[in-house]
Amino acid sequence: MRKVVLVTGGGRGIGAATALLAARRGYAVAVNYLRDAGAADEVVARIVADGGEATALQADVAVEAQVAGLFARLDARFGRLDALVNNAGVLETQMRLESMDAARVRRVLDANVVGPLLCCREAVRRMSTRHGGQGGAIVNVSSVAALTGSPGEYVDYAASKGALDTLTRGLAHEVAQEGIRVNGVRPGFIYTGMHASGGEPGRVDRVKAFIPMRRGGQPEEVAQAIVWLLSDEASYSTGGFIDVAGGR
Ligand code: NAP
Repeated sequence: MRKVVLVTGGGRGIGAATALLAARRGYAVAVNYLRDAGAADEVVARIVADGGEATALQADVAVEAQVAGLFARLDARFGRLDALVNNAGVLETQMRLESMDAARVRRVLDANVVGPLLCCREAVRRMSTRHGGQGGAIVNVSSVAALTGSPGEYVDYAASKGALDTLTRGLAHEVAQEGIRVNGVRPGFIYTGMHASGGEPGRVDRVKAFIPMRRGGQPEEVAQAIVWLLSDEASYSTGGFIDVAGGR
C-alpha cells in the first residue's frame, strides 16, 4: 500500500512541484487547494497519467471546520496519513507596517499560522503512536523572510513565518517520542505566482542581484528538500530547517 501525503496548496507553485515529486517517489497524494480547482485537477491528472494515485481536495486551511472536513475526506479516500506538507500560504500587497490594518494582518496569520497549526493538529491525531498511529513526517514551508523580516515589503508575512518556525521547533520536540518528525523548509526567492499577490510579479528578477547565487530558485528545487525531509533518509532529522535560498 502506498504511503499517503497531504500537500496543502498543492495545485500551484512549490506545492504542485512537491505533489508531483512525492508521487514520483511512490506516495499517493492529496492535493489541497483553495480556489483554483483547474490547477489542482491538472496536478492530479499528471500524477494519474504517470501511473500514480492522487485526489484534489478543496478546503480553506484557515477555517477550522474546513480543515476537519478536509481530513475527513482524506480518511475516507485513503484511510491513512503518513506525511503532511503545510505549504499553503499567502502574502498581501507590499507596504510598510504603518499602512497595514488589522484585517490584513489577521488574514495573513490565519492562512500562514492558524492553518498549519490546525493541519498539524489533525495530522498528529492520526500519526502519533500515542493515539494508535504509525508515526509520520511533517514539513512546514516557511520562508527566509522569517530570518530577514521583509522590511518595506511585508513584515506581517515575515512574522507569520517566524511563528511557523517556532511552531515547527516546539511541535517537533512535543511529538519526538511518538514517531513523528517535524521539520521546516525556508525557500528564498522562487519563481511562482505568489509574487503577483504582493503586487510585483517580476520581484524575483528585481532582487536576484542581491542573492549570493545571483538567481531565483525553481519550485522543483524546493520540492527536493521537502520530499527528502519527508523520507526515511531523513530519519534522524527533526526540529530542523533547510534553507533553499541560493545562499541568502
Ligand atoms: P503560490 O504559487 O501563490 O501558491 C499558493 C498555494 O496555496 C495555492 O495552491 C493556493 O491555492 C494555496 N492556498 C493559499 N491560501 C490557502 C488557504 N487558505 N487554504 C488552502 N490553500 C491555500 O505560492 P508559492 O510561492 O508556491 O508558495 C508556497 C509556500 O512557499 C507558501 O507558504 C509561501 O509562503 C512559501 N514561500 C514562497 C516563496 C516564493 O518565493 N515563492 C518564498 C518563500 C516562501 P489556490 O491554487 O486554490 O489559489
